[in-house]
This record gives sequence, structure tokens and C-alpha cells, in this order.
Amino acid sequence: MPDNSQYLNKIIDGKAIAATVLTNIKANIEKTSIKPGLAVIQVGSDPASTTYVKNKLLACEKVGIQSFSYNLAEDISEAKLINAINELNNNNKIHGILVQLPLPKQLNPRTICNSISQQKDVDGLSSNTLGKIMTSEHDRVLPCTPKGIMLILKQIQLNLVGVKCTIIGASNIVGKPLALELIAAGATVTICHKHTKNLQENIEAAELVITAIGEIDIIKTTWIQKNAVIIDIGINKIGNQITGDIDFKSAIAIAKKITPVPGGVGPITVAMLMQNTMDAFAKNAAK
Ligand code: NAD
Repeated sequence: MPDNSQYLNKIIDGKAIAATVLTNIKANIEKTSIKPGLAVIQVGSDPASTTYVKNKLLACEKVGIQSFSYNLAEDISEAKLINAINELNNNNKIHGILVQLPLPKQLNPRTICNSISQQKDVDGLSSNTLGKIMTSEHDRVLPCTPKGIMLILKQIQLNLVGVKCTIIGASNIVGKPLALELIAAGATVTICHKHTKNLQENIEAAELVITAIGEIDIIKTTWIQKNAVIIDIGINKIGNQITGDIDFKSAIAIAKKITPVPGGVGPITVAMLMQNTMDAFAKNAAK
């Protein structure tokens, strides 16, 4: 096994960044008499979703956000789910609503995300919320993972103006909103996806490589330029182990900075959900 201790200063410690965010939120909540409330809806019992939901509820507990957890039947109809969301939209104890994705086939994720009221859309996935990112509106809410990546880049003091960035993965939840945010910050962004023909060339050109594929062995470490910053969002389960999309052990030798998996983007994403809930609560209190 290669000895990576010489590279320790290259590792972006997601747990530490998340801990700082959570400590600040907790301190702010301790000052308030009314507590922020987050509703988390899971439909069915997909094991990965169960783990993600559990982590989110634990984070709520840590910072003092009151959580309301709903586990709904796998075969629930779209109308029933929308009714349940509407009740939460009208419940003044709840400031944020999250529907854990993916959803079973009978439910259209766009219709479901769009039924969450804009003020409570703390996952940032409704069409209106995503639209505000397109136009860089000052009150836009970023989905939690792109928001977390922007925080990481700020923490490592990467000047994004003019940076060549390649994002691999073009989903609504990660790649697309992140690309828009990076463009707004001055980066030159290429988004690659499963139909991209010249993946290697696009990665070779990038000073900032961000991957959100969910598959290993697609990106070769040898394609990444020396001193590139690597943000690995991918989550892949190999046996009992979780890894990212990129081979961490070989990439760390090349990278200027790199996020590990686990312990990189994941904890920051959860912290950003807490931050978005806190912000929705504060906006509601200011009304
Ligand atoms: P998705 O399935 O919606 O998107 C995957 C993207 O990868 C698509 O744009 C697809 O075109 C692209 N892709 C697939 N094969 C490719 C190939 N051969 N070459 C180039 N691109 C290819 O998934 P998602 O929801 O965006 O999530 C992506 C990964 O990020 C998953 O592993 C997910 O678990 C992880 N994720 C992690 C966090 C976190 O907090 N750490 C948050 C969100 C997603």
C-alpha cells in the first residue's frame, strides 16, 4: 500500500469544514426561542436512501433543528404524496421540506419537487429554485451539494476567475447547478456526461476536475494534469467500502488538493442542508 502521509496537506477535510458550519448553526439556534423545523420524506425503503435520511436526521439533532420524518409506502400515488407535501407547506412549524430522491417509478420527481413551496425548498430542486441559479438572483437557494462544493473552493482559496473547470456528470442535483455557479464566479466550465466523446481531452485541459458519475474506472488518473484540484462527489459501494469516482491513492500524488470519499463532499452536503433550513427559518422570521 503506498504511503500517502507526505500528501496529507492536500486532503480537503470535509468533516472538519462541516463541523465548523454545524457549530455555527447550533450556536445560532441556541439563541432562538422558536426552533427551525425540517420535514424529511422518504418513499419506500431503498437502503442507500435510508442511510442518507438517517444522516440528515442525526445532523438535525446535533444542531437543534426539529426534524419531522415521514416514511411513506413505496406504492403511494402522486396525488397522495402531493397532498402530504401540501400539508407540510401549510404547517408553520416546518421551515424546510426535503423529499429523498430517487423516487419510485410512479412518481415524477419534477412534479414532486415542484409541489414543495419555494420558501421551504431547502434541497433546492424545484424548477423555480433552479431557475434563480440560472439568473444568479441574490436570493437563490443552491442545492446542497453544489453549495458545499462552492464552500470547499472558498475554503481552499481557489481563485475561480479564469479557471478551466471540467465537471463530469450533468444532473439537475449536482452538475448543472454547479456549472452555473462556477460560471457566475468566473470559471470557464465544460460539462461532460455519458455521451461525451472526448472525455480524456476535456479532463486533461482542466485545472479543476469535479466528478459526479457514480462509477469507478471511467476517469483515469493519468488524464488529470499535475496540480489540478480534484473534487470527487461520486459515491460507489465496493463490497463494504465506499469510494469515489477517482482512484484516490494515485490521484493524491498529482493533485494540488483533493476530496476523499468518504469524508469529503458527503458531510458538507448534509451541513449545507442544515444551513439552507436555517436560512429558510431566518427568512420566515424576518417576514
Ligand atoms: P445521476 O445518475 O443523475 O448522474 C450521473 C451523471 O454521470 C450523468 O450526467 C451521466 O451522463 C454521467 N455519466 C454516466 N456515465 C458516464 C460516463 N461513462 N462518462 C461521463 N459521464 C457519465 O447521478 P447524480 O445524482 O448526479 O449523482 C452522481 C454521483 O454523485 C452518485 O455517485 C451519487 O451517489 C453522488 N452524489 C453524492 C453526493 C454527496 O453528498 N457526496 C450528493 C449527490 C450525489
